[in-house]
Amino acid sequence: MERQVFNFSAGPAMMPAAVLERAKDEIRSVGGIGMSVMEISHRSRHFAAILEGAEQGLRDLLQVPDNFRVLFLQGGASLQFSMIPMNFIAPGETADYIITGFWGRKALAEARRCGDINVIYDSTADGCKTTPEQSDLNINPDARYLHYVANETIEGVEFKYDVDGMGVPVVCDMSSNIMSKPINWDKYAVVYNGAQKNIGPSGIAVVFMRDDMFDRIRGEHHTLLDYRAIRDNDSMANTPNTWAIYMVGLVCDWLKDQGGVEAMEQRNIEKAALLYNAIDNSDGYFTGHAARNVRSNMNVSFHLPTPELDAQFCREAESIGLDGLAGHRSLGGVRASIYNAMPRQGVESLVDFMHDFAQKNG
Ligand code: PMP
Repeated sequence: MERQVFNFSAGPAMMPAAVLERAKDEIRSVGGIGMSVMEISHRSRHFAAILEGAEQGLRDLLQVPDNFRVLFLQGGASLQFSMIPMNFIAPGETADYIITGFWGRKALAEARRCGDINVIYDSTADGCKTTPEQSDLNINPDARYLHYVANETIEGVEFKYDVDGMGVPVVCDMSSNIMSKPINWDKYAVVYNGAQKNIGPSGIAVVFMRDDMFDRIRGEHHTLLDYRAIRDNDSMANTPNTWAIYMVGLVCDWLKDQGGVEAMEQRNIEKAALLYNAIDNSDGYFTGHAARNVRSNMNVSFHLPTPELDAQFCREAESIGLDGLAGHRSLGGVRASIYNAMPRQGVESLVDFMHDFAQKNG
């Protein structure tokens, strides 16, 4: 038996052990058909059942309303940064963007290729530690949509409420907190995510799109860049990432066994509190990045007194099986990503290590 490693990587991230075991058991013969999921046609009835199962799993867990379509695409969340403005903004039209971190800025840069974008909140100058209040937002009624990132993965800043578009359709990147809690669908027109954090392996993005949004698409687009074509071809306008879709189905089965996203939310709150308490009770040895009221339950970003100690902390943590803790290259420091698959025991081990490290090096 290999030693236990807790993987705190931001994504691709830790997968539930039970999911990996099941994938291993089924690798040569998925559903007892004598063939691997990686070798069957995406047009086969076997794969049709897998695709349907993955979609149904997501629908059941997130209680997706019937008037939303579930689309599986490639190109990660980053392609959505482009597809959204390409599909929804015609020349001369605008959209509103809220910027609370690195990924919001990436989305904005792509949107600016398509139109004149209004940035209605930007915390970049203050290091992206906050989110706006609803009352801070001056939403332009002519905006084709309002875009924001629910959880900024690098800064560890998470919205604690659903932004109201005040009549403007809200498009939300939930890459790093989807499945961590229920979604209030009344507030959203489009929700999207790259799967490799809380939903499956990399190589797949899941887009939930309200039916009326397809009628708001402007102009004609290349087939694979047009949401209507993806919808009309049931996410198989070309060969999809069959393996990743299969894995999404397994993660959904596992989540159901765990009691669903409501149960997960409770566990996630508790896991995050363990880490934030360790930071807050360290007499200033560890400093959290996000403002307290918007601390992410998924990505806990903090730093030690010096960059050298940050690096030493990550090195020593890795040597005892606490992996993937180095902060993103843009921010430095330490980041513990504690998605659904991270057991409480992993977080407790990290808290113990933080305590020991501060004692020795404080
Ligand atoms: N949005 C967020 C919030 C992310 O965390 C990431 C990836 N870390 C992305 C977008 C980009 O995702 P991808 O690599 O799947 O394109």
